[in-house]
Amino acid sequence: MDFNLTEEQKLIRQMIRDFVEKEVKPRAAEVDREHKFPRESIEKMGPLGLLGLNIPEEWDGAGADMVSTAILYEELGRGCGSTALTVEAHLSLACASLNLFGSDMLKDRFLRPLARGEMLGALSLTEPGAGSDLKGGVRTKAEKVGNEWVINGSKMWTTNASVAGVIVFLVRTDPGGGSHSLSQIAVPTDAPGLHIHPAERKMGLHGCKTHAVTLEDVRVPLDYLVGEEGRGLQQTLTVLDGGRIGIAALSVGLAQAAFEESVKYAKERHAFGGPIADLQAIQFKLADMSAMIDIARWAVYRAAWIKDQGRPYSQVAAHAKLFATEMADKVCYEAIQIHGGYGYSAEFPVERIYRDNRLMLIGEGTSEINRLVIARHVLRD
Ligand SMILES: Cc1cc2nc3c(=O)[nH]c(=O)nc-3n(C[C@H](O)[C@H](O)[C@H](O)COP(=O)(O)OP(=O)(O)OC[C@H]3O[C@@H](n4cnc5c(N)ncnc54)[C@H](O)[C@@H]3O)c2cc1C
Repeated sequence: MDFNLTEEQKLIRQMIRDFVEKEVKPRAAEVDREHKFPRESIEKMGPLGLLGLNIPEEWDGAGADMVSTAILYEELGRGCGSTALTVEAHLSLACASLNLFGSDMLKDRFLRPLARGEMLGALSLTEPGAGSDLKGGVRTKAEKVGNEWVINGSKMWTTNASVAGVIVFLVRTDPGGGSHSLSQIAVPTDAPGLHIHPAERKMGLHGCKTHAVTLEDVRVPLDYLVGEEGRGLQQTLTVLDGGRIGIAALSVGLAQAAFEESVKYAKERHAFGGPIADLQAIQFKLADMSAMIDIARWAVYRAAWIKDQGRPYSQVAAHAKLFATEMADKVCYEAIQIHGGYGYSAEFPVERIYRDNRLMLIGEGTSEINRLVIARHVLRD
């Protein structure tokens, strides 16, 4: 049974599904094998409004809701994990930061071209010594000198850095520390002193470019501050709540792709006189996969719907991310098992999907951090 999608959401899903079948999925194996940034398909998404899907029309976005945006990540994930994460980091991290907290000047300068798909964005939080513990760990500092911020420090794992026009950085603006010592600042990627290092070599998501970034006396105007000075941590956590729905949706799409490959393979592969789909052991795996994907999809759409209602959604977003990403890990594991030796071969997509999904249990809050978020809600209520 389908989630109670509106006619508009169904139309958006069909449009995205058609686009992914034609433009994204056929390139996924090459993107992975060649470590190739999926530029052609990303460039085609701008004119379709997909790169600003849930950004208000006022800022040149398509003005769609979070359920539609979850569908975007799910369908992209079904086609190509690298393409999906590139778009998710652009839309749910960079655009969301500027849309939620940026001044009208920053929206005009950066959000408009981002939403139109004329450039990509990135959000850079993580550092060599700071991932889950941003409050205590962030060392990159910004100091006010005259009418500018002067920024110095090192960041890690910035998705899209080399293909972005702007990066929103989380920096320390009060050396005293504490939960009001961090701020977000937007930095154009052509700013002198901003160095983007070569793409990291990763287990999966080979086409999605992730970089260390160093900032040496990078200067930007004071009004490039995103939101309020000293509220960077709180703003970041709000953005990550939304991002978690995005990553959860992406995992549902990856799991769906692995499942579809498994059903096809189980019908084609013969052993002991018939298709392996006739074996109850294989049927049970497919049944578990189907059940888990269905439940995860509902959890993701529900979290997105609650966000769309303007209700608190931090806990349900963490539920969705925790369940969907770990579900997809199990589904991909079984997909490889169903494929036997071929599942371990790069000739079949399931090994790529398995590798691509592994990040989803780590990025935008590890499974452990999501459990902490949920436990805090449970114990507080
Ligand atoms: C491909 C990729 C893309 C990424 N893209 C971005 C990006 O665009 N922008 C960005 O800023 N970052 C990005 N990241 C970084 C990512 O968000 C971090 O890796 C993640 O938040 C975890 O931080 P860490 O790696 O420092 O691990 P750590 O925080 O050092 O954690 C190590 C382990 O300890 C556990 N742990 C830590 N604290 C606790 C605790 N309190 N309780 C229980 N367990 C705990 C963690 O769950 C984990 O298992 C990306 C990472 C990768 C691999």
